[in-house]
Order: sequence, then C-alpha cells, then structure tokens
Amino acid sequence: MKIHEYQAKEILKENGVPIQDGFVVENEADIESTIDKVAKEFKCSQFVVKAQIHAGGRGLGGGVKFCPDKSSAIEKSKEILGMTLKTHQTGPEGQLVRKIYITEALDIEKEYYVAITLDRTQSKHVIMASSEGGVDIEEVAAKNPEKIIKVWVDPNLGFQANQARQLAFRLGFEGDSFKQAVKIFKSLYKAYEVTDASIAEINPLVLTEQGNVIALDAKFNFDSNALYRQKDVAGLRDTHEEDPTEVEADEFNLNYIKLDGNVGCMVNGAGLAMATMDIIKLKGGEPANFLDVGGGANVETVKNGFRIILSDKNVKAVLINIFGGIVRCDRVANGIIQAVSELDLSVPVVVRLAGTNAEEAKALLENSGVSIIPAESLEEAATKVVEVVT
Ligand code: GDP
Ligand code: MN
Repeated sequence: MKIHEYQAKEILKENGVPIQDGFVVENEADIESTIDKVAKEFKCSQFVVKAQIHAGGRGLGGGVKFCPDKSSAIEKSKEILGMTLKTHQTGPEGQLVRKIYITEALDIEKEYYVAITLDRTQSKHVIMASSEGGVDIEEVAAKNPEKIIKVWVDPNLGFQANQARQLAFRLGFEGDSFKQAVKIFKSLYKAYEVTDASIAEINPLVLTEQGNVIALDAKFNFDSNALYRQKDVAGLRDTHEEDPTEVEADEFNLNYIKLDGNVGCMVNGAGLAMATMDIIKLKGGEPANFLDVGGGANVETVKNGFRIILSDKNVKAVLINIFGGIVRCDRVANGIIQAVSELDLSVPVVVRLAGTNAEEAKALLENSGVSIIPAESLEEAATKVVEVVT
C-alpha cells in the first residue's frame, strides 16, 4: 500500500525526523488562507507547492514548484490543484491531482538519498544512501552504482549505532550535521520498523545552507499483509489512486491484479494462478489479470470474479482453471453455470476443472446448455483460449 508525501512526512515527524513542513489543500477556496498559515506557522516568506499523488518524479513532471512569494504560491497552487500530472511513473494517462501540499521553502546546500527496504536475498533490511540524491537518483543507480552505499541490518540485532555513524561518515557529513544525520538514520529505521513498511525513502534528504539536515520528500510503502495490525497506517489509504477494479476485488476478498493482456484468468490458489499465466504466455497469449478466487469458489465468488475480469475492456476470452481439493468441482461447475447464465457473457469461456468430482462437473457443464469451451488438461485449456483470442 502506498501513501502520500504529506502522510509519510507525518510518520517521519512522529518518529523524530525533521521535515520540510506544510499544510494540505483540497479546495481552491482554501489556498490563500493556507499559504498564510504556512507563513505564520513556519516563519517563511517563500513556499513550495507540491502535488500529492502516489507516483514519484513529480518535480520533473511539473508537480513541484518553488514560489519566491505569496502571489506566485497562489498562482502555482491554482495551477497544480486539479491538473492531470504525468510523470515517468504515472503512465501516459497521468494522475489527477486532488490534493496539494504547500510547504515552507528551504535553502538547499546539498541533496542526499536514503532508503530502507527488505533485501530478500540476504534476509536482512538494507539501508541505501547516496550523496548524489535528488531527482536523478535512478540515473545514479544505473550509471554510477558505486555511489550508492549499502548497509545491511539484521532484523534480530536491529540497526546499530556504529552503522548509523558509518553511513553519515561515508556520505560526508561533518560536525553538527553529522550528529543530525546519525539521529535521522536511526529515526528512519524506527519509523520503517514500527509501521511494517516495505519501503521508507527520503529523497532528497537535504543539508540546508544553515547546516540543518531535513527530509524534503518522503515515500513509504507498506506490507498489505501487515495492515491488520497497523490500523493507523490502514487509515491512510487513498483508493482514488488505485485501480478501481483492484479496490472492488479487495472488497470481495479476491486477489486481483490487472495486467495488460486480453486473456482473463479465474483460478484458485496463487501458485496455480501463476502457472496458468505462465502457460498462457507459453502458448503465445497475454494474461489480462492475475485472479486468485481463493479456496471457496462458490456461485458468488465466480460471479464476482466474472464481473471484475469483464470490467476490463481488453478481455477477449476467459480461462477458468480450478483445482478441486476441498472445494468440489461439481459445486464450482454449478457456480459457473449459474454465473454464465445470469451474467449474459459476451466473450468465450474456456473451463478446465480438475480434482475432486471432476467427472460430475464435466457432466453438469455438458448438460447445462451454457456455452462454454471445455478442456481436460491445462495445456489444452491454454491452447484453446489463445486460439479464440487470436
Ligand atoms: P519528486 O520529484 O516527486 O521526488 O518531488 P520532491 O519533493 O523530491 O521535489 C523535487 C525537487 O524539488 C527536489 O529534489 C528539490 O530539488 C526541489 N525542491 C523541493 N522543495 C524545495 C525547497 O524547499 N527548496 C528548493 N530550493 N528546492 C526544493
Ligand atoms: Mn523526491
């Protein structure tokens, strides 16, 4: 799960990381009073107006503007609020800006990068940092990977004080800003750990001309499987920024991820769903989605699954691949028959049911009169579904 910059900064602030602070505006009518509030609260006369969308690269896309005075802050706020912002992460359709964050402007001496994530290959957290932070960090990572310092943290031992000092030293911090940086790294690690974050990133972390170290931008992603014990974090979710069908699938308890192909897939179990997608590709097709309907593939789940798959206009056929273990194939077949007849489907449906009561299921489907294309093996099913879309 992703959150906005202003929310990520709240988390940083709570954990002791100094931030470039500001207030959020959702309505044009509140722009001027909010700028006054920022000026008063943070004792500044220059501002930065920042689009709040989940995608990064806002600066290069025109969604972050430095404003030397109040009138330009009003102008830029009006411009950015409500715009469709395109960045290298939004895709060509862009993202509507529903909120802006008006902050104090800082005098920047130098921009750094620091992020924490899980390194699965080492079973450790990895802290990555660079003295070349800012908007071009991807380029630094690609062209000068040696400029990215990495420190691994054993989750059982935690982040050690000497590791924090080592990081600050290698980034070139000195004197009082060295102490500030060390404290920030420790606080960032704490924020990452206590929120079950999967990524905690500050880019840029800046050294100001006054010698202060401050988080200018922040990005947190969270492990969705931990949200049950992170109620505050779960409350930060902004479904406007998510794919609407994925949000709907979530409400139905279906694991759905939209992809770019045209073969809709309805499968039980994540492993089988991945195998199904693989074989569709092997046969020359492109899956339109990942959909794991879970253990109980009953009439309602099958219907909801169809609704979600077919709300994607790219879908030209559906492949149902269910393995009947605890859920018996004949019950799934009844679900399919009922769903297909009630929903009036406009695309061909290939069905492969294997496992408990597969024979009974086959007979049910044959005698039902609903128009489906039966298949025995997974290979046959994939071949047939790719045939009908090409
Ligand atoms: P991103 O492009 O989505 O990562 O947005 P950021 O919040 O990181 O802002 C992009 C860039 O805008 C930063 O790297 C800075 O160079 C610049 N910027 C943001 N806030 C300030 C500020 O207060 N003062 C100055 N001088 N530049 C800023
Ligand atoms: Mn940034």
